[in-house]
Amino acid sequence: MTDPSPASLADRVRDGDVRFHEIEEHADADTAAAARRRLVAETADADADALGEYAFDAADAHGSNIENMIGAVQVPMGVAGPVAIDGGALSGERYLPLATTEGALVASINRGCSVVTDAGGATARVTKSGMTRAPVFRVRDVAEAEALVEWVRDSEDVLREAAESTTSHGELLDVTPYVVGNNVFLRFRYDTKDAMGMNMATIATREACDRIEDETDASLVALSGNLCSDKKPAAVNAVEGRGRSVTADVEVPREIVEDRLHTTPEAVAEINTRKNLVGSAKAGSLGFNAHVANAVAAMFLATGQDEAQVVEGANAITTAETTTDGDLYASVSIASLEVGTVGGGTTLPTQAAGLDILGVRGGGDPAGSNGDALAEAIAVCALAGELSLLAALGSRHLSSAHADLGR
Ligand code: NAP
Repeated sequence: MTDPSPASLADRVRDGDVRFHEIEEHADADTAAAARRRLVAETADADADALGEYAFDAADAHGSNIENMIGAVQVPMGVAGPVAIDGGALSGERYLPLATTEGALVASINRGCSVVTDAGGATARVTKSGMTRAPVFRVRDVAEAEALVEWVRDSEDVLREAAESTTSHGELLDVTPYVVGNNVFLRFRYDTKDAMGMNMATIATREACDRIEDETDASLVALSGNLCSDKKPAAVNAVEGRGRSVTADVEVPREIVEDRLHTTPEAVAEINTRKNLVGSAKAGSLGFNAHVANAVAAMFLATGQDEAQVVEGANAITTAETTTDGDLYASVSIASLEVGTVGGGTTLPTQAAGLDILGVRGGGDPAGSNGDALAEAIAVCALAGELSLLAALGSRHLSSAHADLGR
């Protein structure tokens, strides 16, 4: 009879009877995590007890969200808002859930939300949608590359039927070929509805690739050929979009800019041009914004998104100008925001609560509307953050806010 205590399991791993990554085969997931935590703490001579405090079911997380689990990291969650949003999929006033350890961030976005709401609210729209996967094929030469491209153009129905046989929600939108010598990249783009869709698109594309190898002379080298482009800064996502391309904008009356933000529309517009546009261009940046990554990362953590995709989510351009009436117009356009309200980390209870605060948990009606609504909420959050930071630079009290709140 096996004693399932963490201590005895740790002994069995040390003795070589049980493998470190297979402890769940000998105990429940919480006990396995405790045994592993003990082993790691001993080896590293670290106090890891705090990692044992968590509120989700380890059995649910094991295998689908995490391997070699030893516990959980806690990140404080705050809210900004409520902020008024007039979106294509999300309308009304919402609190925005933000998980972060950066002091002053929530306060800053909250100030932006309050200004946006007093100005009558932000408008937000998803203008393009599609998750991509781009396998790379080896061909003999450029003639064979051309033949493959032609076959793909003539056979979209065949590819669609193969890809969509693997999913009841996903739809193949198009396949864009790119030829580089004897390499052919096929960028498959899918409507993945409320799923972020990276697993869905990968599984569907694998099926389509089988069909291509059956019907042509091309050989699949890698299911992801990096033209997708996932979790890497890439111009293709900035230009073509990936996930959701979403824009939020607002017109803030001059009195509100002056009374609440202690600056002027002209100052905000000038700072945006010189810093976010000229400065970013000189730096060779892909993101032309002040700190969109802050809003994206904090909302990603709060709602169970894949945090590595903040790389693409920071691919944003902020604009600001003075209107003919002397008010401030500002916008944030995020080219490649990869979000979902089903699958991945969205099912963990604290992350599901984050989605509930926005009212976008699970599948939407129609399918895809919750994913769009989440994207719009994040874009408005980013807009609020941009306004607040640009205004802080305009009124020159950025450093004092950090000194008071963040240290
Ligand atoms: P998923 O958890 O693998 O799958 C979500 C599934 O939910 C869909 O495939 C769909 O099933 C189902 N579903 C139910 N209701 C839906 C609705 N309303 N809209 C859309 N789908 C609905 O999630 P995923 O979004 O495809 O992938 C996200 C995960 O991929 C994350 O965990 C992320 O970390 C990981 N990831 C994977 C890769 C990779 O290369 N594989 C890369 C980056 C990240 P049906 O398809 O049967 O309809």
